[in-house]
Order: sequence, then structure tokens, then C-alpha cells
Amino acid sequence: MNRENEYDSSIREFREFGVFIEKFFRTNVEAASRLVEKINDLSNKLFESHIYTDRLKIMNFCGTHEWTVTHYGLRSLLPKTIDLVSGPGCPVCVTPSHYIEEAIKLSLEGVVIYTYGDTYRLNTFRPVKGARSLSEAKALGGSVKLVSNILEAIRDAKIHGKPSVFVGIGFETVAPGYARLIDKNMFPNNFSLMCLVKLTPPAMFYTLDILREKPIDAPIAGVIAPGHVSTITGGKAWAPVAENYGIPVVVSGFEPLDVLLSIVEILEQILQGRAEVFVEYSRAVSWHGDLGAQRLIHKVFETIDDAWRGIGFIPKSGFRIREKYRLYDAFYQYSIREITPENWSRDLPPGCRCAEVTLGKAKPTDCSLFMKFCNPSKPIGPCMVSIEGTCSIWAKHGGGGLAEDIAREAGLK
Ligand code: SF4
Repeated sequence: MNRENEYDSSIREFREFGVFIEKFFRTNVEAASRLVEKINDLSNKLFESHIYTDRLKIMNFCGTHEWTVTHYGLRSLLPKTIDLVSGPGCPVCVTPSHYIEEAIKLSLEGVVIYTYGDTYRLNTFRPVKGARSLSEAKALGGSVKLVSNILEAIRDAKIHGKPSVFVGIGFETVAPGYARLIDKNMFPNNFSLMCLVKLTPPAMFYTLDILREKPIDAPIAGVIAPGHVSTITGGKAWAPVAENYGIPVVVSGFEPLDVLLSIVEILEQILQGRAEVFVEYSRAVSWHGDLGAQRLIHKVFETIDDAWRGIGFIPKSGFRIREKYRLYDAFYQYSIREITPENWSRDLPPGCRCAEVTLGKAKPTDCSLFMKFCNPSKPIGPCMVSIEGTCSIWAKHGGGGLAEDIAREAGLK
């Protein structure tokens, strides 16, 4: 077989695999019905055996899971006794306003700022020279460019040669790519990274601690952990959640059947008195994760206590570029002031309840601004901006899976 035929046949196989995934995980009504039956059966057993007397709350950590749950209306398939709440898994939602303000300032001083589309629309807490977002900075003459990845930004920066900064927002998943480029000296001299990468397990510990101190109606009984992050960290990263909090954790894929299967696993573990990490997304996630990527990340980045927007400082929850690589570090290159626990202050707009939504303490419909003053075309808080933000997902797809309920809860009906 020549190279071209080989290529064609791999593309064909890949497409066939895609069709298989689609049929098996997304449109397999029979499997979905059986899983829903199983969830109902397990839920009945849990309540009959008085293991639970009130509602049972499961937290889906990640914004992509919230999208799957809401887009496919999974909540409407679950018994009323099971409550799926979203967690802090949206990196754009939790990036402190201060760092976006710094990016705006640099852009107005002529530094080319590269960013993704959702960060471009993110509102800051304070205006900077009249601009409250990178898009407003651009309208005021700031140098802001939208890109779909860092390589595109590097290519462009090499061509124009002006001082340039890439605003690197994300979770562990994006870190290996940045680390490789830095370690292999692939940044041009005029280019640096404002590394705002956050770590997910520490945020999960923090959230569970908060909810344990002050439980809202029911404690979290199980966690659906992010599949994409776990491809890097491995399922083992979630073991402390199961061990220290005594609740099951399932690393889940992102198709509707993945999520239903993960709920079944959590309920089964609770019924059997187990609290373990189970990797449901085994087609992509191993127990130890990507060891090469982990080594590279730790070579280039150090772990810091980091600020989360509206929430405050979470220990060991962020990455910064190590001193050895500081020529590539925008914080060093442009003397960007870092937030510290001493100078941190709440950075959400008045009335915005994003921090509570992010920590699973409130639903978007609990916010009096939801869909009245804050909506996807005119977002006020960060959770309404990103495609992974819970408010944006609920606004576009209907959070409970029933649009009428959402409208009623929001006082629109
Ligand atoms: Fe914040 Fe808007 Fe969500 Fe309210 S509806 S919590 S203002 S993002």
C-alpha cells in the first residue's frame, strides 16, 4: 500500500470510528433507556435502605460535562431524588479579572495580545482606560488578536516581530503543549506566555471542603471527574478525593451514555459502601496518565497557590513558568503584578453569583440577573461568557433539561 492509500485508509478508519462513537454513545436509545432504568432502580434501593433519606447530590466538575448534561437534557431523565450540580470546571470563569486587566493595559500600550474568543469577551471588574474587556480594548485601538491556538499566535508574531503575549488560560490539558514549546525554545524573542493555567484536583478539594462546612440542602455524594484533564493526570489524581472525602469518583467521558454510566457506577458504589476512583473513560484515560507530559510540565512549570475569580486563593492550584525559562514568561517580561492573598479582593460584578454557581452552591436561576440583565449576547459575569460556563450553558440549552422549568425559576413565565 502506498503512502497515499495508507493515509486514505486511516482517515476512513477514523471516520468509521467516529460514526461508531456517535451511534454507540450518543444515539443509542436502548442503552440510554436501560441505564436510566438502572439509575432509577439503584436510587430506589438507596432510599429504601435509608442510605439516603433526602436528595442525593452528584457534582459534575467540568464545564464540558455540564454541557453534555444540559444539552442532552439528562437531568430530565433522572429521578427527582438525584441532583446533578455543576462544579468549578470552566477555566475562563475562574481567571481573575486582574490578569485580563493587565492584558488590556498591555494591548493599549502596543503589545500584541493573543487570546481565544471567550477570553476576548470576558468582562473585567475594573475598566482599564475605558475598556472593560479585550474586545473593548481592541475597539479603542488596542492590539488584540483572536487565535485558535498558540502555534497560530507564534506564527503571526514571527511575521510582525512586535512584542507579543499569549494569554494562556486553561486546565492541565493545555500545559504540556505550552511546556514543550518553551522547553524546545520555540518561542520567537518577541513572544511570551502569560501562564494562567489552573489545576483541577485542588479546586475539587476546596469545593468539597466548602460544601462540607456549609452543606446546601444535601452533601455531595459522588463526583464525575473531568475526562480530558485526566488524560494527562491519570485517574490516580482523584484518589485523594475518594480517600479523604469517602465518596466515589468516576472519571467520565463526555458523551451522554458516558455520563449516565458514570452515575450508575457512583450509585452502585454508594449502595455497596465503596468510595473508589473508577475510570469510565478508559478509551482515553489510564490510571497513571501521560507520564511524559507530566515530566515535561514539572520541568517547565512550578505549582503555586493561585487566585480563582470570585472565590479567592486555592492552595497549589496554578502553574507559573519556572525561573530558568523566564525569558518566555510575560509576568517577568512585563513586570505584571501577581495577586497575593493579601491584595486579593472579590472581583465579580455587583449581583453576580458566579462564585456560588462555580462552587455548586447556587444554580444560574438563583441569580436575579440571569436572562434578565445577563445573557449570552450581553454577559455580565464570567459564567455567561465561556461555552463551558454554567450560566451560558443553561441560557442556551435549559439547565434542568426542561426549558419551561428554567423560565419559571428565572421568573420569566
Ligand atoms: Fe453571573 Fe450572569 Fe450567571 Fe448571574 S447570570 S451568576 S451575573 S454570569
